[in-house]
Amino acid sequence: PGPATVAALAVEDRALAHNYSPLPVVIASGHGATVTDVDGRTYLDGLAAYSAVNFGHGNPRLLTAARDQLDRVTLTSRAFVNDRLGPFAAGLTELTGTEMMLPMNTGAEAVESAIKVARAWGYRVKGVPAGQATVVVASGNFHGRTTTIISFSDDPDARNDFGPYTPGFRTVPYGDADALRAAMDDTVVAVLLEPIQGEGGVVIPPADYLPAVREVCDEFGALFIADEIQSGLGRTGHTLAVQRVGVTPDLVTLGKALGGGIVPVSAVVGRADVLGVLRPGEHGSTFGGNPLAAAVGAEVVAMLAEGTFQQRALEGEPVLRGYLDELVGEGVVAHRVAGLWAGIDIDPALGTGKQVAKALAARGVLVKDTHGSTIRFAPPLVVTDEEIATAMQALGAVIRDL
Ligand code: PLP
Repeated sequence: PGPATVAALAVEDRALAHNYSPLPVVIASGHGATVTDVDGRTYLDGLAAYSAVNFGHGNPRLLTAARDQLDRVTLTSRAFVNDRLGPFAAGLTELTGTEMMLPMNTGAEAVESAIKVARAWGYRVKGVPAGQATVVVASGNFHGRTTTIISFSDDPDARNDFGPYTPGFRTVPYGDADALRAAMDDTVVAVLLEPIQGEGGVVIPPADYLPAVREVCDEFGALFIADEIQSGLGRTGHTLAVQRVGVTPDLVTLGKALGGGIVPVSAVVGRADVLGVLRPGEHGSTFGGNPLAAAVGAEVVAMLAEGTFQQRALEGEPVLRGYLDELVGEGVVAHRVAGLWAGIDIDPALGTGKQVAKALAARGVLVKDTHGSTIRFAPPLVVTDEEIATAMQALGAVIRDL
């Protein structure tokens, strides 16, 4: 690492809680699909901030929307109404084919909000006896880091030493509709799933799974909540990943890219008769739905309504898959691709995902390992075919050298 990088890392190490183990790259600026570090080295961004930067670093339309709003008003709280939130909600519900929106800030807050809404709906509408509402979740899930959400994680790093845990959750194997059906009973208010498990390693369930989940939920009068915080908003070539298999959930959580990589913006969207159970004073957030967030979010919605980012992800998919197919047997044991999103399993005999990520960084490509020997490639959707080629050539070189 260069001298500015070394100095910056030393400050980090001393002053920051060690809840991350970042690659030793200190980013100072970003443009499109690339970022540049404090020593002037430029990298292809193969993570896009966990898909929060789907529209590219420094996207001009999003920057203009943010700048214009900075000069007007940025925070009102929802004790009053601001002139940005309503149009954002109207646009987002239209884009997602839903009826109502509940704005929050981070992904975990959106998931917490969906759980609260589902429980209240369970008691007030479904008639579940007080205190018995159950939410069914999947093994290998990742929905965030709050105490309730980690209560139904099966990742020891996420859970251990953070109990006591919130009750009311039941875990079934991901991708197995029969196991889901067997876990259902009258207390189940919702099934909460990622349509594609992102942190789990871009795990794509069998094509008939999400339709079967929809059927099971209908059969048992439970809500289907799709967590599209990572999979949604263009990443898979669709506005929502559930559209890949033609499924309509009752509630959808969105986050990450909803804030255009500029501000934290999340939301629950879905059925008006479900989100409508919330009464004034039961839920909220000081920053949720603030005018700056809404102005950026509305521009994100306007861009997605044009369809070009989804189209780019669809066109990039076969390009990315083609390069990865060539690497199978050459150090890659398997890969899963949906749009511009790939989970890549490196032969564990060669090394860990973290080792691969480090070696790739040395070759100018930033990626993140997920678990064990799996890495994820999820560049900003403005990435070119040439940049994909460069990244995949670098990956080929790295695994040959391991
Ligand atoms: N849900 C999913 C599917 C995610 O991938 C994430 C973050 O990676 C979250 C929820 C949590 O979002 P946040 O980190 O903004 O709380």
